[in-house]
Amino acid sequence: MTDAQELAARVREGELRLHELEQHADHDTAAAARRLLLEAETDADLSTVGSYTFDAEVADSAIENMVGAAQIPMGVVGPIPIDGGATDGEYQLPLATTEGALVASVNRGCSAIRAAGGATARVLKNGMTRAPVFRVADVGEASEVVAWVRENEATLRDAAESTTNHGELTDVTPYVVGDSVFLRFRYDTKDAMGMNMATIATQAASEVVEAETPAELVALSGNLCSDKKPAAINSVEGRGRTVAADVVLSREQVEDRFKTTPEAIAEANTRKNLVGSAKAGALGFNAHAANTIAAAFLATGQDAAQVVEGSNAITTVDVRGDELYASLTIASLEVGTVGGGTKLPTQSEALDVLGLRGGGDPAGANADALAEVICTAALAGELSLLGALASSHLASAHEELGR
Ligand code: NAP
Repeated sequence: MTDAQELAARVREGELRLHELEQHADHDTAAAARRLLLEAETDADLSTVGSYTFDAEVADSAIENMVGAAQIPMGVVGPIPIDGGATDGEYQLPLATTEGALVASVNRGCSAIRAAGGATARVLKNGMTRAPVFRVADVGEASEVVAWVRENEATLRDAAESTTNHGELTDVTPYVVGDSVFLRFRYDTKDAMGMNMATIATQAASEVVEAETPAELVALSGNLCSDKKPAAINSVEGRGRTVAADVVLSREQVEDRFKTTPEAIAEANTRKNLVGSAKAGALGFNAHAANTIAAAFLATGQDAAQVVEGSNAITTVDVRGDELYASLTIASLEVGTVGGGTKLPTQSEALDVLGLRGGGDPAGANADALAEVICTAALAGELSLLGALASSHLASAHEELGR
C-alpha cells in the first residue's frame, strides 16, 4: 500500500479529516490521497489534475484541501512599448485564458501600438480600501464619532501602521447611514495588492475607534470598501490603482492593422461603449477590458475575483484630423507583485517575463508598472475588438452597396 493509499484509508475509517492530511504526510502525498478519495467517490480520473510540477508546500498559503492544479494555457502578447510613470521600454505580457482568439486579438492591438511608436501610461491614483461598519445609538452619536475620526486621523494612522512595515494609511473617509457609521480606510500598499495588509491594519485602527468613541464594530468589512462586488464607489473614487493608457494612430496605421477607418472605430466606440453602456446602466464603458485583465490576473497570480473591479473602465476614441486617439482608463485595478498568488512558481515566472517579480525600487514601483502594462494591453484589446466590429460593419456595408 502506498503512503497516499494508507492516508486515504485512514480518512475512510474516520480517523483523519480531509483537511488534516498535511499534518500526517508531505503535501504531495496529502494531495494524492485526496485525489484517490475523490476518484473513488466520483468515478472521475484526476491524473491530469495531479500532474503538476510546482512544490505543493509553496501553495500552502494559497489553497486548502489541495487535490492538484487547474492548468490554464498561457500565451504571450507584445512586445508593447510603453512610456509610463513606472514603465519605460518594451514589455511582453503573459496571458492565461481558455478563450481562443483573445491572445491573437490583443496582440493585433499591440502591433498597432508598436507601429504608432508606443503608448503612454500613468498610474493616476493609488489606494487599497477597507471600510468597517460600526453600530451607534442614533444619528447624533454618529455625528460625534465622525467628528472624532476627523480630529484623530493621526492616532488611527499610528495604530494602523503599527501592523505593517510597508503600508501607509493615506486617509479615512466617514459615511453615515442612520445608526451605522462606515469608515473607508485607504492605504498605499506599495507592491502588495494589499487586501490582507489593509484588513489587518484596519482591525488595529478599529480597536482604537471602539476604545475612544461609543461606536461598536459590527463587521470589519462593511461592503463600502468595496471588494469583489460591482460598486459605483470604486468607479468614482478608485480602488487599488487608477491607471490610464493612450495612443495616437495614423490613418494608415488604422487601415493597415484594422482594415477600417478612424471614423468607423470612433463611431463604434461612441455608439457601443458610451451610448450602449449608458443605456445598459453599466459601470464599465468599454468593449472587453475584463478579458485582458482576467487573463493577465491568472497568469501573474492576482486575485481573480477582483476582475470585477478591473472592469470599471472607460474607453474613449476620437478622430483628431487624420489621426485616431484612443484611451483606456481603469478606475480600480487591484494588482501586486508581492504576496498572495504572486508567490506561486508559474505566476512568479510570468512576473519574471515582465521583469516585475517582487518588490520594486522604490517600493510600489513594480505594482505601478504592472498596472501600466495591463492597462496598455487592455487598450490594445479595446482597439482590436473595436476594429473588428468596425471593419465587419464596413464589409457588410460594402456588400450591400456593391449589389
Ligand atoms: P499578503 O501576502 O498578505 O502580504 C504581503 C506582504 O508582503 C505585505 O503585508 C508586506 O509586509 C510584505 N511586503 C514585502 N515587500 C513589500 C513591498 N515591496 N510592498 C508591499 N508589501 C511588501 O498580500 P496582500 O497583498 O496584503 O493581500 C493579498 C492576498 O489577500 C491575496 O491572497 C488575496 O487573495 C487576499 N485577500 C484577502 C482579503 C481579506 O479580506 N483579508 C480580501 C481579498 C483578498 P508588511 O505589511 O509587514 O510590510
